[in-house]
Amino acid sequence: MRFEVSRVMDTVEQRLTTDITLAQAVVDLADVARFQELDGGRPVNLLRVGMVLDALAQYLLDGAAMLFPVAGRELISDQSLTSKERMVLGRWLDSGRIEAVPMVGDRVIEVADFTGMPVIARRSYRQYADRFPWLTSSPERVLRLDRRPGKAVLTPDGESDSPPAGASRSVGRYAAERTVTPEKGERVFQPRARQAETRVSTRAIEPAAEPSSLGATLLARSWRCAEDMCPSFGPDREIGEPVPRLLKGVPSCPRHERPLTDNGSRPAEYPVAVVIEDAVRLRFPVTAAAPVHVGRDADISLRLWLHESASSWIADRHLRLDIIDGGLVITGAGENGTVVWHRAGPGDAPQSVRLYEGQRYALGRHDTIELYTGVELVPGNRRVVGGPVSARDVLSVLADAPTVALRAHSSS
Ligand SMILES: [Zn+2]
Repeated sequence: MRFEVSRVMDTVEQRLTTDITLAQAVVDLADVARFQELDGGRPVNLLRVGMVLDALAQYLLDGAAMLFPVAGRELISDQSLTSKERMVLGRWLDSGRIEAVPMVGDRVIEVADFTGMPVIARRSYRQYADRFPWLTSSPERVLRLDRRPGKAVLTPDGESDSPPAGASRSVGRYAAERTVTPEKGERVFQPRARQAETRVSTRAIEPAAEPSSLGATLLARSWRCAEDMCPSFGPDREIGEPVPRLLKGVPSCPRHERPLTDNGSRPAEYPVAVVIEDAVRLRFPVTAAAPVHVGRDADISLRLWLHESASSWIADRHLRLDIIDGGLVITGAGENGTVVWHRAGPGDAPQSVRLYEGQRYALGRHDTIELYTGVELVPGNRRVVGGPVSARDVLSVLADAPTVALRAHSSS
């Protein structure tokens, strides 16, 4: 059982980040860890964050959805956490996967305001509406965390408890084509008849809320904390930056509450999602630091998800993504070529552009990339809509050890 709990915690860890380019929702970790009614277990339990990740994945229909957790000192020092949980929490804090703050207060709302991402909440944040008027004018940006038998669910504030629009969509003709390999839990897809001339990407991409103007100003700069070892704004941070806390009008470190220094303009960073047969499998950043090769066997390896004909079509290194002049640029590498579906706006009909070896294309913000029918790269900071995926197709981070893990953990 201990092994299973560790494995679930490791899986959960991969889906937590304070890199605002990759994160898709922000939450007060204490709100989640203390949600005792969720499973009826101990008063505080860190594994509940796995249930909330599952709820976010179901809500977004995105099995790789990532969460930005904020943890206050009162949670971090809570003596009722197990020694194992304290160890895991310490690791998450040191690696910058969660943000430590002395007091949470309105920090989660501030992160949402500065970045445009939604907030997951159990309590009401309306008390902060003076500083953040959208809490009353756009209540749907707050996703209410509730309990259903055996799971957590998210409902946009101000809406009824009906499932989100995407959740009730039928799986349609894709259902019959899916099988499961039990030893990995990964789905393998049987080949569909390939119709190279008539294929059409059905994907549409819904923009996230925009950052506030203050947020956009802060996000344009890179920031440094005076504390050298700072996991949020220190020089050794390995992942993309979070966003400063504004204290008395001064951009400050949320963890150390000291003014940050302006470290120049923030390098461009783009999140990209790997979508296989309409299901999001992985999310990765493209930064100015190095190009990212994508293919059967590359920096981003797709082999695990490819059926035979896709695998023989897609090259080991099929395409390259770079940041050039602040924009995301694709370069073709595989001999079979890559299709870019270009859209002028989010709802517009796509036009296709085919790239062969060495050919470059500057991607627009609504463009998607198709390596083979059903194997796509899409902008990773958007909610993907219009596909045939239903909530049933979204895998759980707790799939390996569902409620067993929660019970085992509560008795350890
Ligand atoms: Zn700091």
